[in-house]
Amino acid sequence: MQKTRQYQYLLKPDLKQKEEIVQLFGATRFVYNRFLDDRNSGKLKSALAKEVVADYLRRYPFLNHVNSSALIHTIFQAQDQIRSLKRYRRRSDSCCSFTVGNLIRKPIRILDDHRILIPDLGPVEMIYHRPIPTDGEIKKATVIRRADGKYYVSVTVTTKTVSRRRDLDPAKSIGIDYSSTYFYVDDKGDRIRMPHFYKEKESAIAALDQMMSQCIKGSNNYYKLKTKRAEIFAGIKNRRKDFLHKLSTQLAEAYDVVCIEDIDMKEISQNPHLGKRTYDNAFGEFTEMLKYKLEERGKILLKAERSFPSSKICSKCGSINRKMTIEDRVWKCPDCGTVHDRDVNAAINIKNRCLMIYFGRRAFGSGLS
Ligand SMILES: [Zn+2]
Repeated sequence: MQKTRQYQYLLKPDLKQKEEIVQLFGATRFVYNRFLDDRNSGKLKSALAKEVVADYLRRYPFLNHVNSSALIHTIFQAQDQIRSLKRYRRRSDSCCSFTVGNLIRKPIRILDDHRILIPDLGPVEMIYHRPIPTDGEIKKATVIRRADGKYYVSVTVTTKTVSRRRDLDPAKSIGIDYSSTYFYVDDKGDRIRMPHFYKEKESAIAALDQMMSQCIKGSNNYYKLKTKRAEIFAGIKNRRKDFLHKLSTQLAEAYDVVCIEDIDMKEISQNPHLGKRTYDNAFGEFTEMLKYKLEERGKILLKAERSFPSSKICSKCGSINRKMTIEDRVWKCPDCGTVHDRDVNAAINIKNRCLMIYFGRRAFGSGLS
């Protein structure tokens, strides 16, 4: 079994490479739109990407200077779009991306810790902050230019799936309760806060908005400010992602089993009290990262079912406190008198529930308090 994963890096092309990239953006956009039009008017002789490209190379000689793998991938993308959307949407001038395959004659390769070899561009400087696994096989690379004017390469890599280890140790497990105040609280009582990446920049964004409102829309100054604004948002996104990557890697390294609640992200983002969409997206992203990072190590992410009342159960005696409200941060169990921190208690319950279901009551039962 193979798995596919994307690795994205900031690219720092030199002037000449930038020119070539822009040329490729233009050529692939042309082919994309040409293909949609030809298909629409029934002019296509073949449905095979390779044959379509061969035909275009004859009809439009200027395309001969462009990497043909990028053109073939463009046809694939257009075909995908038709299949999924069942309609034609032409690529606009602002759409900047192209994809090239990893071919024997024109390979994509990570050269060292700061350069990637991209067909036709040669070695391009990049920030290689997250290494591709040594057993990973590069399939293709997509070069994009984002709204902030920066270039990125997204490398598609396949790796063999690691089979799950048989010796997973329930003692090396952690329970996590997502929280909107903290990022999460675990069963050991540790509270992880996510830095306020957005809040830190809020006043800068407001200042830019104010300046933009005083500019003539479409003027040079307006676009400068708009780019600056996009840069700030890209920075926030990158820093948040970086934080989530580091945290999920730490957990996947330290534990065999990570237990979380199966929460409905959509429901949370619609709850006006919890609001802060940024956090909700981060939970979902974090869960995804945890899952694949654990799987890559033969470990496992377990989820307690959505209906499990993790905050209402006393983790000491098992009785359910039905009178609890969302405001109760600390509560005393009416049956055994234990005083609980709401979040830590929930994390303990999530962990116990998941371990019990996965390892079985008999194998694990004695470990439950
Ligand atoms: Zn109790």
